[in-house]
Amino acid sequence: MERLKNKVAIITGAALGIGKATALMFAKEGAKVAVTDILEDEGRALVQEIQANGGDAMFSYLNVSSEFAVQDVLEEVFNKWGRLDILVNNAGIAGVNSPTDQVTEKEWDKVMGINVKGVFFCTKYAIGHMQQSGGGSIINISSIYGIISAPDLPPYHASKGAVRSMSKTDALLYAKDNIRVNSVHPGFIWTPLVENHLKNSGSTLEVGRKNLDALHPLGRVGKPDEIAYGILFLASDESSFVTGAELVIDGGYTAQ
Ligand code: NAP
Repeated sequence: MERLKNKVAIITGAALGIGKATALMFAKEGAKVAVTDILEDEGRALVQEIQANGGDAMFSYLNVSSEFAVQDVLEEVFNKWGRLDILVNNAGIAGVNSPTDQVTEKEWDKVMGINVKGVFFCTKYAIGHMQQSGGGSIINISSIYGIISAPDLPPYHASKGAVRSMSKTDALLYAKDNIRVNSVHPGFIWTPLVENHLKNSGSTLEVGRKNLDALHPLGRVGKPDEIAYGILFLASDESSFVTGAELVIDGGYTAQ
């Protein structure tokens, strides 16, 4: 249970869903975990849970769309633990669900500001700390919709496509520093993000979930832990020869 022993990790959007599952798993595997999110109460409660289980964690409020805040928080984590090995760029929003001809510039920019610029800012300020630490692993949470598409959520799908290609560019740029960069592409995972998306789409949660289940050949939506296991592999030295790769965890969705 020490796959991340002596490693320091920062996870964005870690208070709920996939980020929370990842933070719990990382701590169990021996990492020191910086839980960051805009949800302060949930983030602090998660840190208490990790500490109660014997793990090491801290909370920092971080809105990933603010460059100065990203710079400050990454500096704070590096100064606290003296190194930075893992960055999980997980924070993301679904954003507006209108057809392209009805999306406003403000709605478009909101999604890009978090899902794309957030990944850019966190990567930008993690690189120097990872270089000083002798290398690192950056895991960017894209989506199946960074690979294929669907007739909804135009800004979201565009943002996840950007995250997929940013991962490959950064994998190439920083391979010389032993910094690996990979993207993860989940199918539908049962988290507050999906629950809220269904609530806003007008169907009941049960009907919405059944519809989503049917999209996956395995016959169900995924669980946050099923994504966290993939992120754990990419964060650990077990994936030391993996960079610029796309890890698809989608119950067969994109195989169709
Ligand atoms: P989630 O349940 O909504 O959790 C994401 C967390 O990020 C929430 O605590 C959210 O706070 C926070 N957040 C939102 N905006 C932020 C910002 N500007 N800065 C920092 N934190 C912010 O989402 P999830 O389903 O776990 O998704 C995690 C990642 O996986 C996202 O990038 C998502 O696009 C991706 N993904 C999810 C699925 C899925 O089916 N769940 C599938 C493919 C990809 P609020 O609750 O206040 O927004």
